[in-house]
Amino acid sequence: MNLEALFALNCGMYVVASSYEGKMNGLIINALVQVTAFPPQVVASVNKESLTVSLIEKSGFFSVSVLEKEAPLQLVGLFGFRTGRDIDKFAQVKYFLGKTGVPVLREHVVAYLEARVVAKLDAGTHMLFLGEVVETEFIDSKLTPMTYGYYRDVKGGKVPRTAATYQEKQGKAVEVTGRYRCKVCGYIYDERFGDPDSGVQPGTPFEKLPENWVCPICGVGKDQFERV
Ligand code: FE
Repeated sequence: MNLEALFALNCGMYVVASSYEGKMNGLIINALVQVTAFPPQVVASVNKESLTVSLIEKSGFFSVSVLEKEAPLQLVGLFGFRTGRDIDKFAQVKYFLGKTGVPVLREHVVAYLEARVVAKLDAGTHMLFLGEVVETEFIDSKLTPMTYGYYRDVKGGKVPRTAATYQEKQGKAVEVTGRYRCKVCGYIYDERFGDPDSGVQPGTPFEKLPENWVCPICGVGKDQFERV
């Protein structure tokens, strides 16, 4: 079985959010799909360890903000790599409250919807929420939605295994093996792979990174990294 074949399934980049008794939170999910048209319903798969799951279960409502293709990695990092137990994510973005009271992102969003939970299914690591769409509008219909594939392959900071194989075939000597972890988002800078998306060649020691280099996922500086 080759699990990478599942990358052939198209997924999006969505901020799912909810609120309950004044507490708001949201996170990025990839698994969300419209499943019926009459009435319009969606299914969202949300990790059970997330704060957002409990907010959805208590309030019975959630919003979905569809991220646009060029949404900054900092926004992805904020909602995808950080926990609402430590920070107030919505204090760092522009948002509005929808008609059901759930927060919706205002910027870098193509469209949004608000849904009322009509059923849920425990899927092990994730909870599946079936939601009836009770409101939906474009934020900016001229923008293009970001797919998970685009994030992973074009914008993503994570290095696929194929990159390591490529180096072996090239016969490059790989002597540096340092790995440094971003304390904010968990991204690993691996000296063997560098950060090609930011113009950093494979084999670049962490100490030789330019002073203005930042975490490609969450945008913090080198001082937020620790050796692992
Ligand atoms: Fe980071």
